[in-house]
Amino acid sequence: MENILLSAFDTAPFSQIKTTDYEPAFNEAIKQAKAEIQQIITNTDAPTFENTIEAMSFSGMQLDRISNIFFNLNSAETNEELQKIAQIVAPKLSAFGNDISLNPELFKRVKQVFDTFDKSTLTTEQITLLDKTYKGFVRNGALLNDDQKTELREIDAQLSVLSLQFNENVLAETNAYQLHITNEEDLAGLPDGVIEAAKNLAEQQEKSGWIFTLDYPSYLPFVTYAKNRELRKEIAIANGKKGFQKNDYNNEEIVLKIVKLRNQRAQLLGYKNHAAFVLEERMAQNPEKVLSFLNDLLVKAKPAAKKEFEELTAYAKKLDGIDRLEKWDGSYYSEKLKQERFNLDDEALKPYFKLENVLNGSFTVAEKLFGLHFTEVFTVDKYHADVQTFDVTNDNGEKIALLYTDFFPRKGKRNGAWMTSFKSQWIKNDVNERPHISIVCNFTPPTQSKPSLLTFNEVTTLFHEFGHALHGMLANTTYPSLSGTSVYWDFVELPSQIMENWVYQPETLALFAKHYETGETIPQQYINKIKESANFLEGMATLRQLSFGLLDMAWHSKNPENIGSLKEFENQEFETTKLYPDVAENVMSTAFSHIFAGGYAAGYYSYKWAEVLDADAFDYFEQNGIFNKEIATKFKDFVLSQGGTDHPMTLYKKFRGQEPSPNALLKRAGLI
Ligand SMILES: [Zn+2]
Repeated sequence: MENILLSAFDTAPFSQIKTTDYEPAFNEAIKQAKAEIQQIITNTDAPTFENTIEAMSFSGMQLDRISNIFFNLNSAETNEELQKIAQIVAPKLSAFGNDISLNPELFKRVKQVFDTFDKSTLTTEQITLLDKTYKGFVRNGALLNDDQKTELREIDAQLSVLSLQFNENVLAETNAYQLHITNEEDLAGLPDGVIEAAKNLAEQQEKSGWIFTLDYPSYLPFVTYAKNRELRKEIAIANGKKGFQKNDYNNEEIVLKIVKLRNQRAQLLGYKNHAAFVLEERMAQNPEKVLSFLNDLLVKAKPAAKKEFEELTAYAKKLDGIDRLEKWDGSYYSEKLKQERFNLDDEALKPYFKLENVLNGSFTVAEKLFGLHFTEVFTVDKYHADVQTFDVTNDNGEKIALLYTDFFPRKGKRNGAWMTSFKSQWIKNDVNERPHISIVCNFTPPTQSKPSLLTFNEVTTLFHEFGHALHGMLANTTYPSLSGTSVYWDFVELPSQIMENWVYQPETLALFAKHYETGETIPQQYINKIKESANFLEGMATLRQLSFGLLDMAWHSKNPENIGSLKEFENQEFETTKLYPDVAENVMSTAFSHIFAGGYAAGYYSYKWAEVLDADAFDYFEQNGIFNKEIATKFKDFVLSQGGTDHPMTLYKKFRGQEPSPNALLKRAGLI
């Protein structure tokens, strides 16, 4: 019986795949990919760019297609069987990855090409591929001697255990606490839905009253809306001491161990510190640049933040006689002040944002900017009835991409919104293989009486994911590993975030924000309110992001051997960014999962970095007209179509004519 996944298919053959096909298909495709690598190693010809680097880039293509289909479905349409297969397949894939990246014979060939090949015969993209391939080995320790290699493996093993422990401790601390309310008066201020969820939680535990936890969907509404200040204080302090109590779940030692090991690892590989190791493969390039980036923003945003903090303090004083604004007051009074100032009601906006209209709006924007045309097609195989498929063509009628959209929540789809691909783009034997891109969201579904009406937040989410999709769809590179969104990590949010800017423009909203019943265009006063409220207390929010970025950089660029007390270290690092009084029993680092258990070590700055890029890039459009064809073409030619074929700063400068400046962001945020 034929396994459809091992056949040559173009669009993913969803309806013909049986769940039992996956595992054997993975096994066979891994075997094929290994054989392809083996062929490169045993080639008796001297290593060249073509027979080694290029051959590696085009190896394992069937495995990639199977992986894309499987893991995309495991996110968007999963079930227990798929999850079980994922458990079996994931270690096999990582073992296969290690087989390549730790293979000394393969590295020998790569190194020989890297050291001796005449680079003047290569294109920029080829040089990038060569560097990336070589560095991939070196950053894994390929240049180390055997003792050092053993040391590196030991550090890696310890680090992976410590990260897991860190996470488990945070989770245990999160679960260990709950705020049990039995007096109805203590619920004052909370929205009905929040109260209902708290009641359900209590019922699940067969308790009377209402229960709030440190899970964000429970915690955030409580500190934002609960009038009872003492209870806000209690839950906020409980949240702030996760991993910082004298119990089995204390993370202080773990944090110090992690930063020491990371530093040791970086130095073993020849880098000054962990931040230098990480940033080598980032647009920002090095710790000095990130620090000056963060500190420059800090100097500019701080006066606004201080002024906002004073305003908020005065407001709390006027409203409730609060003398000293504490951390547990911030969200509460911010929300109150925001309501008072803007009174922006999501429900009033939603009728202007019917999903079909918004999606067509994003298509129209792409047509005006990049000459793309979207036509729904009904002949492409889908994995769920909710999925829609669109043929994307250019002005010459040439096929650019296939776009899948999948918008509504259901059992088996994970939360959030994302863009992904079922097939990437590449050029081989003069054939430009066009990509199959997908956007998956969890929007408000339609009801019997109403179509799907989006909140403004959902509208920006759609444009955001559509921006990632454009990056994928307009890809025009030779090698699949450099195509589309395969770019440095602090560059990948530029195409997505820049698209959000169009949503705030009256010219864009006039295209699609029409009342679903009356056809009336969204009133200008709503647009103004949306714009103003987007910048509300932006100085304080900026300072907060900068404080996290600076703390992250301090952990990963200062000598960890000199760090004594975690609390002292933190207080020292927060000195320039702090607004609220310190809470003695709280710290940030022992629950800072982004950097100690996630992928954000020496990377937290990238949130702000991406904002600076998108504001600076959009400013260029605004100066020349937001639908200016010439600027759009530059953006397409130098950014969207280029993927990771060149350093992002080079690509950006080709588009913009200069390096990004933070001024556009500061202006947009109303900070200067
Ligand atoms: Zn994104």
